[in-house]
Amino acid sequence: MARQDIPILQRTVNGHPLVWLDNGATTQKPRQVIEALSAYYASANSNIHRGAHTMAREATNIYEEGRAAVARLLGAPTPDSVVFVRGTTEAINLVAQSWGRDNLGPGDEILVSTMEHHSNIVPWQHIAKERRARVVPIPLLPNGQIDQNAYADLLSFRTQLVALSHASNVLGTVPPVREMTALAHRYGAKVLVDGAQAIAHFPVDVQDLDADFYTFSGHKVFAPTGIGALYAKPEILQCMRPWQGGGNMIESVDFGQTTYAPVPHRFEAGTGHIAGVVGLLTALNWLTSFDRQAVATYEAHLVAYAQQALTTLPGLEILGSAPGRVAVLTFTLAGHEPAEIADWLDREGIAIRAGHHCAQPTLRHYGLQDAARASLALYNTPHEVDQLVHSLRQLQQSTA
Ligand code: PMP
Repeated sequence: MARQDIPILQRTVNGHPLVWLDNGATTQKPRQVIEALSAYYASANSNIHRGAHTMAREATNIYEEGRAAVARLLGAPTPDSVVFVRGTTEAINLVAQSWGRDNLGPGDEILVSTMEHHSNIVPWQHIAKERRARVVPIPLLPNGQIDQNAYADLLSFRTQLVALSHASNVLGTVPPVREMTALAHRYGAKVLVDGAQAIAHFPVDVQDLDADFYTFSGHKVFAPTGIGALYAKPEILQCMRPWQGGGNMIESVDFGQTTYAPVPHRFEAGTGHIAGVVGLLTALNWLTSFDRQAVATYEAHLVAYAQQALTTLPGLEILGSAPGRVAVLTFTLAGHEPAEIADWLDREGIAIRAGHHCAQPTLRHYGLQDAARASLALYNTPHEVDQLVHSLRQLQQSTA
């Protein structure tokens, strides 16, 4: 049972057992991951200079094992199509700065859905400004799904890239990525899928999606902070120029000419987060030790239960109603500011998030600046949902 593996769930907050409902911000770590980090530093720490000495070889092997595990998780054709990065934000900046700089020109368009996290908007604005291209929002329907008719109308031969979340961090919406990708490809556009909120919730297959780029952050999938991955189709990655320069990414350096290491090392300048890769490998082994389809089904029941229970509260409104959402419920409660709600719950040991969730255009779509968000993971229980609803009811009664 996943829950027993998570030591932090034993702690109390403000005198109450912790109820962690802020998984959209970051997930808690299994004991196996924490122990693997400690064991790595206690007995295996080394840089990964290939072939220098035994421990360097061991560290190199485990680093590459981590890459292979990510490739398996994503259904990538080869580990060489996986680049280690700090997280989703860095991955998208890498694509914008490397691929974008060579493939965007004046008048070109980048279509970005309105439900994107700021990290899938701002890097495109930066490179669009530099290349005199345009970032064009794809509108949402009232239910929080991407408007497919508008999308089809916006696509043109000017479209170079479509940037989409595989799951919204505010609405939980899962767009029809495979169909949207197929449509984009008809115009020769590439598609980048931000998997930050998808990866912990359901199985992903980048080849089935036919995504050109796919990104995720380790810390949202039970691994440490500071490590994440970028997948790119091998033929695209092969043609991309290096992003950051430094050690580990070169073949030979001379003041006359510098040549670069093969992919993916060309994109990994400097000493990487080796311990982070150890943690990520362990987290993925932990996650895939469960039947992922069964996890997705459990979470679907849990979120449906939570949705039903929350809406029994008068004045509570959940943002988005597209079917098939991941376990993210963003809501407003009449008469109570989101920050007040989060404070009240925190006093009872219940952690949720209040604010704009780094997705201001999404909230603006609902006429809001901020909202409260409960986001669930496989280790959450219906009992914890009951505690959330009970505490919210008490908040309402305290001011009635
Ligand atoms: N995209 C989405 C959908 C997210 O939810 C997040 C994190 N909240 C990010 C991107 C950014 O991830 P990170 O901060 O780990 O780079």
